[in-house]
Amino acid sequence: MPENPSTRKMNNLFKLSNYIGGQKLAPVSGLYIKNYEPASGEAYSLIPDSDLQDVALAVSAAHQAFQHWSSLTSEERAGWLIKLANKIEEKFELFVEAESKDNGKPISLARSMDIPRAISNFKFFAHAITQFSSESHFMPDVGINYTLRQPLGVVGCISPWNLPLYLLTWKIAPALAAGNTVVAKPSEITPYTAYLLSEICIEIGLPDGVLNFVHGLGQKAGEAICVHPDIKAISFTGGTQTGKRIAAVAAPMFKKLSLELGGKNPVIIFSDCNYEKMLSTTVRSSFANQGQICLCGSRIFVEKSIYEKFRTDFIQKIESLTIGDPSDQQTKIGAVVSEAHMHKVLSYIELAKAEGGKILTGGQQIQLQGRCEKGWFIKPTVVEGLSFDCRTNQEEIFGPVVTIMPFENENEVLSMANSTSYGLAATVWTENLNKAHRVSEKIETGIVWVNCWLIRDLRTPFGGMKNSGVGREGGMEVLHFFTEAKNICISYK
Ligand code: NDP
Repeated sequence: MPENPSTRKMNNLFKLSNYIGGQKLAPVSGLYIKNYEPASGEAYSLIPDSDLQDVALAVSAAHQAFQHWSSLTSEERAGWLIKLANKIEEKFELFVEAESKDNGKPISLARSMDIPRAISNFKFFAHAITQFSSESHFMPDVGINYTLRQPLGVVGCISPWNLPLYLLTWKIAPALAAGNTVVAKPSEITPYTAYLLSEICIEIGLPDGVLNFVHGLGQKAGEAICVHPDIKAISFTGGTQTGKRIAAVAAPMFKKLSLELGGKNPVIIFSDCNYEKMLSTTVRSSFANQGQICLCGSRIFVEKSIYEKFRTDFIQKIESLTIGDPSDQQTKIGAVVSEAHMHKVLSYIELAKAEGGKILTGGQQIQLQGRCEKGWFIKPTVVEGLSFDCRTNQEEIFGPVVTIMPFENENEVLSMANSTSYGLAATVWTENLNKAHRVSEKIETGIVWVNCWLIRDLRTPFGGMKNSGVGREGGMEVLHFFTEAKNICISYK
């Protein structure tokens, strides 16, 4: 039985291991990195500081496993994914506690979103692969073409810290379902649930080498995955700068690349919206997971006629959010993920002030009492008075900081909303159907939510345009990514 991380002692740091070839392995170098609990600021486990030697072992194991795994029927592979999903369900609370502790997120969020979604990812792709079909093109009197969709081989999956198990499984589930074997690197900042998942793989007897986890730093272990010649594709979610680096390394090797990158998402609020629904959803879309969801809206544009009212009501709601120990069921705002990230977010608050912004609420770190007194907490922050094109409104902060800005009309708000280099997601609030269609069509983002936020149907294409990424995840799109299309043409004559 895996030990519950919350019971571990600081002076007896537990060593997580890599999962390679079906075995728990220590890093070849013997080196480890400390893993911190954001809420207490204390190290509570050690993770392998893996390097290219560990990645080479993992790729070799995945390579050996490929022939068998890819020759299974889709129903057989689906069966393994369902077993993984069922085991996570069985150990649900263990995963919930681990995710909250490792990331600093409120336990209620881990329980309602992260872990249920990880389970759904496995179940969804288990079902999807049994429905996956390929095309056939008939040429009258000439012949017929049919397309095979074959797995690529060994693929690399690199995921970030904000939704650790949720985003990791969003990649590995379709990769495995499509018949590939996987070398994955979870973020070194939040490795714990991936480690628990590797224990589950061992418990259910997943064939050795099908799935491998190499823990460690992006620039070492992550980069080693990107440069390995036997890895055929990289599916990456993370920051835009890292995405650029990965593309620079992997593109000349002609690897397939799926890049889900940063965002600076606009929220557009028209005066004819359903006000109460808009208000409570906008609080959530601003500060869920401490604003550390790539889909959070960070630039809030409000039609002038309701701007004053919105400002008052929004601030009032935000100030009533409970900030506290993430393990407390009542907590709505937990800790940000690391000390370095806290300082980054605080530096953006200073930038906002220097650019002429007025802090309406928040604006600083807060110190809690008791076990969280050394934790990394930032008060939800709202800034007004900034121009749409200043750095605060153009660069991704990825924390509990939003700006609010008034607008006069549709054209003006569209040009402000589309002014950043990012294009991931947008939210539009209006009860006018024509306006909703018109604005949605003109927004330069891969995802638009109208009168809602973060409703996810896993069949839909997911991803961003501009500097927010290349390619789409989700549904059949990702199964296309994780397979190679081969057209076979047969002549009748
Ligand atoms: P990073 O880009 O810093 O890291 C993402 C992953 O890449 C981590 O596992 C990291 O390892 C690894 N990595 C870092 N450098 C390299 C490298 N040179 N080669 C290979 N791998 C590398 O992102 P964060 O973890 O800080 O996550 C936050 C970012 O993710 C935000 O920009 C956010 O918008 C974006 N994001 C995008 C989503 C989307 O769907 N578009 C969804 C969620 C987040 P290590 O942790 O060791 O640095």
